[in-house]
Amino acid sequence: MKVAGVIFDLDGTITQPCLDFDQIRADIGAIQGPILEAMETLAAPQRRRAEEILQRHELWAAENSQLNPGAGETFARLRGEARFLAVITRNRRDSVERVCRRHELSFDAVVTREDGPVKPDPFPVLEACRRLKLAPGECLVVGDYLFDLLSARRAGAWAVLLTSQPSWQQYRQEAHCVIERLADLHQVIAGVESGQVAPVRAVGGDEAGESFAEADGQGA
Ligand SMILES: [Mg+2]
Repeated sequence: MKVAGVIFDLDGTITQPCLDFDQIRADIGAIQGPILEAMETLAAPQRRRAEEILQRHELWAAENSQLNPGAGETFARLRGEARFLAVITRNRRDSVERVCRRHELSFDAVVTREDGPVKPDPFPVLEACRRLKLAPGECLVVGDYLFDLLSARRAGAWAVLLTSQPSWQQYRQEAHCVIERLADLHQVIAGVESGQVAPVRAVGGDEAGESFAEADGQGA
């Protein structure tokens, strides 16, 4: 089976981790856990204020972003192999656009939180696949956090964990493959295409829910 598409998370995967989630939570105040979900529980005026704070952090992170080592070369190689590239992020579209402008990147599909339910929901992966006209089973999802892996597996795609976060061992069991560097992606692709990596297994709500509860609360 050919890996026809590779779908990347943004912060911590394409770029070096740049968002300080603890600081964002502190600036918003009185929220815990995943930020977008916590914001949903706020009354409208507080939520608007929280959205402004979050957006300020996100735009600053995008303007100051540094690519992860090997990112540019990896994208060029994947393009050369005629694979489609996409981004899925809990961030906003303008943040992705700033990162792309800053680093001269382009993607065939970009799915952001304006588009619908965010990771760990399977929607972003399914929506990226719909736009690429590919089946999830033909796509790798590469991310540095639990929510990337859950979204991938719930959609029926391959979940590849990049070990950018110190906490990566807590959710490595949700990944089909673990890589330390983006440059190692080609080995994962070779493994999937030769059938050496275990087949895609869709994850049911219960099993994935357990991991969700154990999440350490990252991820805007
Ligand atoms: Mg990330």
